[in-house]
Amino acid sequence: MIEKGSADIYLDNNATGVVARECMEAMLACLRPGIGNPSSAYAAGMRAKDLLREARAEVAGLLGARPKEIVFTSSGTEANHMAILGTLATRGGRRRIVTSTVEHPSTLMLLRHLEKTGIAVTYLPVDSEGRLAARAVRDAVTADTALVTLMWANNETGVLFPIPEIAEVTRALAVPLHVDAVQAAGRVPIDLTQVPIETLSLSGHKLHAPPGAGALFVRKDFKIEPLLWGHQERRMRGGTENLPAIVGFGSACALAREDLEAESLRIGRLRADLERGIVERFPAARIHGACAPRLPNTSNIGFGALDGEHIMRAFDRRGVAVALGAACAAGAMDPSHVLTAMGLDRRAALSAIRFSFGRYNSEACVGRVLALLPDILGEVAARAA
Ligand code: PLP
Repeated sequence: MIEKGSADIYLDNNATGVVARECMEAMLACLRPGIGNPSSAYAAGMRAKDLLREARAEVAGLLGARPKEIVFTSSGTEANHMAILGTLATRGGRRRIVTSTVEHPSTLMLLRHLEKTGIAVTYLPVDSEGRLAARAVRDAVTADTALVTLMWANNETGVLFPIPEIAEVTRALAVPLHVDAVQAAGRVPIDLTQVPIETLSLSGHKLHAPPGAGALFVRKDFKIEPLLWGHQERRMRGGTENLPAIVGFGSACALAREDLEAESLRIGRLRADLERGIVERFPAARIHGACAPRLPNTSNIGFGALDGEHIMRAFDRRGVAVALGAACAAGAMDPSHVLTAMGLDRRAALSAIRFSFGRYNSEACVGRVLALLPDILGEVAARAA
């Protein structure tokens, strides 16, 4: 496995990762005849159940969790929904949720919907580096707060919230904490024996597994209602398990755990080389969240007055996939809600490009991006003139 696409360079690992060969092989093995439904009581079902058990142990192992605390879902989105709706359903009259302004749309869109049903939501602002202080969480929690839901790492900037500190605050206030760790898991160490979080979501395809499997960690003795009713997953999530995707997910977690520290250092060096090289070639470049603790793999860079969409397309024409720091809504570009929340004006936010590294990126791809950059920026500037 090299870069996504044949000769292409893939630098959008926060969107989805290249599927690891180890995951593919593990998945193929469970697609062969003789593997049944894990709920069936005969040999083929038992073999499936064994595979499911092994995958659950691998996912739990990445987090310092017990296998019984892992519920498989279809995605990170489903895990976030399950945690938020499932916790809300058990919190009696408490009708407020505390969150931040920079959450992933899978959280924010659900919360906007819940507001229409009478739930109050407190959106905590971040500072110009994308940071949130634990004391802001403490000040926001009220007697009617049902839960706090926050991301560990931001998908656009990589900025890390101080989750261990926040978890101490919510634990002291006896308010459940849900953490969206979809971007953090496998990239920074997570040890749930040390951090008192009630629920935490993951997604396989951010870890070099294929899409189709996510997980929700639900701490032992913490009760939430299922989103999908059925007997599977110890009655926590109905529906026949997507065994191939789950097996791929388990193998991706094992891979991530094996060399998390070494990979973080290697990828962090690639990111540093990229950022240094970009600023050397384009001194007006701004690295968003540069002063905050960040994931080692993510770089969100503003290119001054240049248009991010044109930069992204110019990279694409040269075989390099990078992400735009903006969303296309109804045919027009909306500036990113994350960058806007960090105080960037519309023009600055629309100039942002996100580079996100993964296991299969090498020094050669940084060199190639830097070699292409002057040409690309020249072309985009000429177009704007
Ligand atoms: N949370 C974060 C922070 C994400 O970055 C993503 C996906 O980009 C999700 C949740 C949703 O995960 P999934 O794509 O598995 O639904």
